[in-house]
Amino acid sequence: PIRLERLDLNRTVAGVESFLRRVIGNGIDLQVAAHPGPLPVLADKGNLEQVLMNLAANARDAMPRGGTLSIGTSRLIIDDAFVRCHGFGVPGEYVELWVSDTGVGMDPATCRQIFEPFFTTKKSNGTGLGLSIVYGLVQQHKGHIRVESEPERGTSFHILLPLAEEGR
Ligand code: ADP
Ligand code: MG
Repeated sequence: PIRLERLDLNRTVAGVESFLRRVIGNGIDLQVAAHPGPLPVLADKGNLEQVLMNLAANARDAMPRGGTLSIGTSRLIIDDAFVRCHGFGVPGEYVELWVSDTGVGMDPATCRQIFEPFFTTKKSNGTGLGLSIVYGLVQQHKGHIRVESEPERGTSFHILLPLAEEGR
């Protein structure tokens, strides 16, 4: 069962940074760009850690010859103008987490299937479950996830979680 508590997303990211460094290994550079200021969310800490872990493991697999994994946080206000301009989004105040790599990337046909359970392109050790789990966890937090990818250039995942109001 999901256990929501008030967390600062920056602290959660900082708390798993050394673990993520070990997951990705020596050939990949990890850069963390944290928003300067608190990012309160109502979330399950273990679930957020799992999201970061699954995305980092995929980024590692996408960069067999090394590269850069960037993790960043920020705040984002989605208003009606934003929705008109970008054609998506639900108005509100959000905390944003992005995870990008400079790896092999994906073609559009692959990109459309990655959140389906058991979809994998990996020859070995692929369960195809990592991103379906991420998707489900983001849904449980009333968040949104979006992916951008370009073959040979890399992939970025953007996750939006509702900002927890002050004192709530
Ligand atoms: P698995 O890692 O076991 O294959 P996932 O659900 O984590 O399962 O990912 C599904 C598929 O999505 C991967 O097999 C891969 O094709 C693609 N994918 C996920 N993340 C990335 C990434 N960062 N770069 C390129 N492809 C990716
Ligand atoms: Mg995976």
